[in-house]
Amino acid sequence: MWGSRYWQAEFWVLAFVTFVAALIGSLFERTLEVIAVIIFAYLCWNLIQLSRLFRWLTKSKALYPPSAPGVWGEIFNSFYSLQRQNRKEKRKLQDIISEFRASTRALKDGVLIISNQGEIRWFNKAAEALLGLKSGSDIGQRLFNLLRHPDFIEYEKVRDYEKPLMIPSPINDEKILNIQITSYNEGQRLVMVRDVTEKHHLERVRQDFVANVSHELRTPLTVISGYLEMLDPEVNPHLESVAKPLKMMRQQALNMGHLVDDLLLLSKLDSKIDTNGHKELDINLLLDTICAEARALSGDKNQQILFHSHTKATLKASEKQLRSAFSNLVFNAIRYTQVGGKINIYWQEDQTHYIVKVEDNGPGIDARHIPRLTERFYRVDPGRNRAQGGTGLGLAIVKHVLEYHNAELKIESTIGKGSCFYCYFSKA
Ligand code: ADP
Repeated sequence: MWGSRYWQAEFWVLAFVTFVAALIGSLFERTLEVIAVIIFAYLCWNLIQLSRLFRWLTKSKALYPPSAPGVWGEIFNSFYSLQRQNRKEKRKLQDIISEFRASTRALKDGVLIISNQGEIRWFNKAAEALLGLKSGSDIGQRLFNLLRHPDFIEYEKVRDYEKPLMIPSPINDEKILNIQITSYNEGQRLVMVRDVTEKHHLERVRQDFVANVSHELRTPLTVISGYLEMLDPEVNPHLESVAKPLKMMRQQALNMGHLVDDLLLLSKLDSKIDTNGHKELDINLLLDTICAEARALSGDKNQQILFHSHTKATLKASEKQLRSAFSNLVFNAIRYTQVGGKINIYWQEDQTHYIVKVEDNGPGIDARHIPRLTERFYRVDPGRNRAQGGTGLGLAIVKHVLEYHNAELKIESTIGKGSCFYCYFSKA
C-alpha cells in the first residue's frame, strides 16, 4: 500500500499538518487540543469522501466516479476500474450464454436441464417438439409427471444411466426416442433426447430379415436332412461308394441346422420375445442335466467333467434361454479342451451375486481376442473352430441371454493354462 505515491504523500501531509499545528498549539500551550481538532477535521473530511463514494456506488447513475484529491481519488479510480472489469466480464458471460442458447436452439436433439428431484429448469426447442413440452407452463414441473412411460419411470427409479433408454415419443407413438441422462454438478442432470426412429426401423428390418431367412432355410434343410438319413450306406450297401460324401453332407446339414437354430434364437433375443416366459428355475438340476449331455458329447475324449454345487439357490428366468447359454459355455469347453482335459462347472454365490462358472484347462484364449469373443461370428481361429462344429454365435447368444436376465458375462483366460467363463446374476 505504501508503495503508492498517493499514500506516502497523504501520510507526509498529515504528519506535516499535525506537526505544524502542534508547534502553533505549543505557542499557546494548547498542543493536544490543536492536534485533536486537526484529527477531527481529518476524520470529517474522510467521512465526507466515504459518503460520496457510497452515493456513487449505490445511487448515482454516473458512469465516472466523482473527482477527489489524494488517496480518495486513487480509491475512486480503483473502484471505477473494478466496475469496468466487471462490466466487461458480464458482457462476456452474456455473450457466452446467448451463444449457448443459439447453438442449443439449432440442435436437432432435445436438451433439458432437470434438478435432482426431476424439476425441469430449462429445455430447448427440439425438446418441445420431441416431448411435447410447453415453454410457458412446463418449467418447474417434474419431468416424470409429464413423461409417464413405465420404462422411463423405472429408469428414474433405478438411476443407472450407464445405458440410454429407448421409449416411444409421448406425442407420437411411431417415433422412437433415445434418452440419455448425465448427472453433473451436485443434483443437476442433463437429459439428451434423440429421435432414433430411422435407426430403430433399420435395425428391425435387419432383425426381421435374419429371422425370415433362418425360418425359410429350416424347411428345405429338414427335407435334405430327412433324405440324407434315408441314404444310409449301412442299410443300402449299393451306396457304399458314396459313403464318404454322404457322411460329409450329413455333417454339413447338421452344422447348418445348428446355425439356423442359433440365428433364430438370437432373433428372438433381439426382439425380446420370450416364448417360454420366466419361472423359478432349479439351476442345480439344469447344470446337472447339461453335464450329463456334455459327458455324452465328450465321448471318447476322456475328459473329466465335474459339477460343483455350492448353493441351492434358484433363479427366476427363462429355462430355454438359460439352458442354451450354459450349454454353449459347457459345450465350448468340451469342444476346445484337449483329450484328457478337465472341465469344472460351479454353481455358487457371493454377497452380491449368484455365479455360474465354467472352467477348463484347455488351450486358453489370447487376451487380444477376449473383448471380441461375444461378437457374432467372431472366431479365434476361423478354419479350426468351424471344423470343430462351432457356429460362431455361441458366446453372442450367451451375452444376449445374460443381458436379457440383467446378468453379466466375464471371461478370464491364459494361453496354455485354460479359460474361465463367469455368469454373474445380481442378487438385487
Ligand atoms: P463357436 O461356435 O465358434 O465356438 P463361440 O461364440 O461359442 O463360437 O466362441 C467364439 C470363439 O471363442 C470360438 O471360436 C473359440 O475360438 C473361442 N472359445 C470359446 N470358448 C472357448 C474355450 N472354452 N476355450 C478356448 N477357446 C474358446
